Amino acid sequence: MPIQAPRGTRDILPDDINQWNYVEKEFALVCKKFGYKEIRLPVFEYTELFQRGVGDTTDVVQKEMYTFEDKGGRSITLRPEGTAGVVRSYIEHGMSSLPQPVKLFYQITAYRYEKVQKGRYREFHQFGVELLGAADPAADVEVISMLSLFFNRLGIKNLKLNLNSIGCPECRSAYNELLKSYLADKIGDMCDTCKTRYGRNPMRILDCKEELCKKKLIDAPALLDHICDDCREHFNQVTKKLDTIDIHFDIDKNIVRGLDYYTRTVFEFVSENIGTQGTVCGGGRYDGLVEACGGAPTPGIGFALGVERLLLEMNSQGIEFPIPETPDIYIGAIGEKAGPVSEKLAWQLRNNNIYCIKDIMGRSVRAQMKYADKLGVRYSLILGDNEIESNKAQLRDMKTGEVKDISLDTLIDRLVKNKG
Ligand code: ATP
Ligand code: MG
Repeated sequence: MPIQAPRGTRDILPDDINQWNYVEKEFALVCKKFGYKEIRLPVFEYTELFQRGVGDTTDVVQKEMYTFEDKGGRSITLRPEGTAGVVRSYIEHGMSSLPQPVKLFYQITAYRYEKVQKGRYREFHQFGVELLGAADPAADVEVISMLSLFFNRLGIKNLKLNLNSIGCPECRSAYNELLKSYLADKIGDMCDTCKTRYGRNPMRILDCKEELCKKKLIDAPALLDHICDDCREHFNQVTKKLDTIDIHFDIDKNIVRGLDYYTRTVFEFVSENIGTQGTVCGGGRYDGLVEACGGAPTPGIGFALGVERLLLEMNSQGIEFPIPETPDIYIGAIGEKAGPVSEKLAWQLRNNNIYCIKDIMGRSVRAQMKYADKLGVRYSLILGDNEIESNKAQLRDMKTGEVKDISLDTLIDRLVKNKG
């Protein structure tokens, strides 16, 4: 039996890479236009970073991490997301002494041991940004507007922006008490995860997907209705600024990112097309995270977007991708003399930035033309003894079938002009 790729991983094959390259390029372009610089970080980190930075009451840390001991006995984890690594790097490299805010973007693979299904894999790809050092609502709006611009540029329609505020540690602890008293006579009938959360981080109960638990939560108090005046003001500013630039949103009081260091604004972009794995992107503010990871108190906000889900969405909306570049010319060769001449010619063409494919199989003219056609080349030219002797050849336009006699000396100029 041949060996297969591990469950939950996917090969991105040459036929699909065009779509990936396109969204990667567009994302980087949008980030740069907003002043973000790319950061590349290790695929693995010490496990403790994620326990602190993602939080050990989350599903990601409790159930989904790829953790192992390395040969030196250290606990290592394949990154399940990008924020913790960026924050680690920000602290480690003293980025707080750079002009603030620090704006970083990344395009990464991430690893989670998940139940594999459409839009949910064990190795997947994320685009993300982290904006560190800015506490103002304007930062929240800028980050959200980047996404909105990115989706617009790609031609994606109907992604719904859901927005909420989860307050700050102060207002949240009062809310947690309120939620606990609401649930006091219900928690006994709820799932084990909810029971654990009840003691450790009650707000996370709102995230439960179990039908029975959801029913019990119908009349639960919403955190948004209980945030403090400062958090309320921040949220009002965010919504006002979004209105100013015509970014539509719905307030969804159920979005929670359930850790003490996540604060205030949380948001998601959700598709109505791609089914249960509909959340294309999630983000929010994390004003306590840098401190929790050992740095000086620093506000931060960011998002992570699932690239597989983005592409699923684009394909389900029938969005056209740019057509990948096809070769400008195919140079075929027949016979002993033609070999070296065709090699030199191809070399010169390539040096002049012409996308050139040349025969390296020594096949018959018929087979070569068939191959050139499959490649979708614009022109073809076959060199044989006669062509070498006369220094002329027939340039065939593969689209129209038109054939022209041309001098080999003028070929490069002609193709360069055509391209220009
Ligand atoms: P979900 O609720 O779907 O599990 P999440 O809250 O775990 O998502 P985040 O940690 O916010 O997801 O990650 C940001 C984005 O990364 C998600 O919105 C999604 O698009 C993508 N994503 C998360 N987990 C996976 C996965 N296992 N496979 C593919 N994409 C994923
Ligand atoms: Mg998840």
